[in-house]
Amino acid sequence: MITFVGKPVFSGIAIGRIAILKKDNQSVKRTHVEDTGKELERLNVAKKKTIEQLKELYDKAVLEVGESGAMIFEVHQMMVEDEDYQSSIINMIKAQDINAEYAVASTGDNFAQMFASMDDDYMKARAADVKDISERLISALQGKAGASLDADEPVIVVAEDLAPSETVQLDKSKVLAFVTRFGSSNSHTAILARTMNIPALISVDYPADVNGKMAVVDGFSGKIIVDPEEAVLKEYEDKLRRELEKKQLLLELKGKENVTKSGKKINIYANIGNVSDVASALQNDACGIGLFRSEFLYLEKDTFPTEEEQFQVYKTVAENMAGKKVIIRTLDIGADKQVDYFGLEHEENPAMGYRAIRICLDQPDIFRTQLRALFRASVFGTISIMYPMIISVSEVKQIKAIVQEVKEELTREGIPFAEVEQGIMIETPAAAIISDLLAKEVDFFSIGTNDLTQYTLAIDRQNAKLDPIYDSHHEALLRLIKMVVDNAHKEGIWAGICGELGADTTLTEEFVNMGVDELSVTPTFVLPVRKVVRDME
Ligand code: PEP
Ligand code: MG
Repeated sequence: MITFVGKPVFSGIAIGRIAILKKDNQSVKRTHVEDTGKELERLNVAKKKTIEQLKELYDKAVLEVGESGAMIFEVHQMMVEDEDYQSSIINMIKAQDINAEYAVASTGDNFAQMFASMDDDYMKARAADVKDISERLISALQGKAGASLDADEPVIVVAEDLAPSETVQLDKSKVLAFVTRFGSSNSHTAILARTMNIPALISVDYPADVNGKMAVVDGFSGKIIVDPEEAVLKEYEDKLRRELEKKQLLLELKGKENVTKSGKKINIYANIGNVSDVASALQNDACGIGLFRSEFLYLEKDTFPTEEEQFQVYKTVAENMAGKKVIIRTLDIGADKQVDYFGLEHEENPAMGYRAIRICLDQPDIFRTQLRALFRASVFGTISIMYPMIISVSEVKQIKAIVQEVKEELTREGIPFAEVEQGIMIETPAAAIISDLLAKEVDFFSIGTNDLTQYTLAIDRQNAKLDPIYDSHHEALLRLIKMVVDNAHKEGIWAGICGELGADTTLTEEFVNMGVDELSVTPTFVLPVRKVVRDME
C-alpha cells in the first residue's frame, strides 16, 4: 500500500483500478513549405473543424454539467477565433514559410506563457485553455482524435494534466475520479470535475507503474491510496456506501419541485460564504442563494476589499447562478466576526455592540463601496440585497437614502444597474415586534433565527456552556416567526428563514403551515428539506 498526497479540488470517494490516460503524441516538427497559400487553406479547414467540435462539446457539456459549466467551450471558440491568436499563426506561416502545425504550436506556447506570467490566479489558469485549443487545432490539422481512455470498466483516470475538452469528452460512465500531476484549482477541468460531481485531485506526484492497480481516491483529504490494505479498503467501502446513499437522494430529488402533496409550495435556497460554494449550491439543486454572507470577503483580506474586487465576486456568483435569485447580505462584521483593519475597539458585549448595519450607517463610505459593487453586478443576474441586524424603521430609511444617492451617482457616471429587490434580516426581537411597520418599507424579510434566538432568549450563541438551554424551538421564537410571516403577507411581501433553524426538518411542516415562503439552508440540506416537503400532505 502506498499513499500519494495531492490537492483535492472536489470531494468524494472513489474505489477502482487506475487507468493512465493515453494522449496521442503530438510531436510537431518544423517543416519548410513551398506553398504557404495551401498551408493557410489547411489552417482554415482545421479552424472550421475545431469550431464545429467545440460547438458539439458545448452541447454535450450543457446536458452533462449545465450552461454555466459548459460556457468554457464558448470561450474556447472565441479563443480559436481571436484575432491576435490567428494573425500570429498566419504571420508565422507567411513570414517563415513553415507548416501550420508548427505555427499553431509555437503561437500556443507564446500565448500560454503570457497568461502564465500574469499575477491574477484566474488569468494564470487560462494558460491551460490556450494549450488546449492549440492541441485541438493541431489534432485537426493532423487528422488525429486526441486523448483516449482504454477501459472496459469504470476507472480512476490518472493523467499529467487534463484539458477541459478532454475532461468532457471522456465517457462519464467510465470515470470514477480524476487525478492529475499538474493543473490548478482554478482550471476549468477542476470546475468541470466539481460540476460533474466526481472526486478530483491535482498535484499528485504518481509513478508510471500505477497503471492498472487498485486504488482509493479520497477527495476529502486529497489522498490516493494505491494497493490499499484490506482494513483500509473496508473503511473506504463503508464511506463510499454512505456517499452513494446521499447521491441517490440527489438523483431522486434533483429537478423536482419543493411542493407538498396538497400543492403548497416553498422555495428552498442555499446559504453561501464565498464564490466556490456556488458549485455546491448548484449540485444540490438550490433554486437560488438565500444568504450570501458577504463579510467573508472582508474576513479573508488584510485590508478593505475594493469596489472592483467585490464587483467581480458578486458578478461571478450572479452569472454562475444563471438568472436564479442571489440574495447578498451586506457586511455583517463585528461580534464573532472580527477584522483587525476595521480597528474595532474592545467591547464588553460585542454581540450587542458595534456591528453589521450599525457600522455601515456610522461609516457610510464602507457601505457605499459595497452598494456600488452590488448595483454594478446587478445587471449580470438576479441580485437582491439584504441588510442585517435591523432594529428600527429609521435605520431602513437611512439605508434607503444612501442607496438612492449611490444609484444617482451610478446614473451620473453612466454605469448600468438593475432594479434590485431589497429586504432586511429579522434577527432582533425589536425587528420582529415592529415587523408590521418594517413590512411597509422593504421588499422581503429573511428571518435570522441564529441571532433571533440568542436575543430573544438572552442566550449568547457562542457560549457552549449554554447550549443545552439555547432552545431554538422555544415557543417565544416560534410565535415571533409566525408574527413576522403574517405581517409580511399583510403588506404583500414574502418572508423566509435563513438561520440554521430553516434546515431543522422537525420544523419544516410547521414552517410550511405558517406560510413561510422560503427556507435558505446549507447546500447539503437543500435535498433533505425538499424530501420532507414532498412527503408532507
Ligand atoms: C442568523 O443570525 O440567523 C443569520 C443567518 O446570520 P448569521 O448566522 O450570519 O449571524
Ligand atoms: Mg445574524
